[in-house]
Amino acid sequence: MDIPNATIVQIRKPHSEDVVLLTIKCPYCNKKHSHGGGDNKKDLLLGHRDSHCKNQPNSNKGYNLVT
Ligand SMILES: [Zn+2]
Repeated sequence: MDIPNATIVQIRKPHSEDVVLLTIKCPYCNKKHSHGGGDNKKDLLLGHRDSHCKNQPNSNKGYNLVT
């Protein structure tokens, strides 16, 4: 089965973190989850991530981050 996309809704770099944090809207639970996205906003590290919610149908497949 295909891996769904997760759209990035916020990109931020907290001063306390070494990495950019990407907030996505989860295709499984519709809540927001944050993932590390590389060390600068110009060169985001996208691609596949494990879902942060483990109790949703198919959520073990994860998703692909898209802008
Ligand atoms: Zn979720």
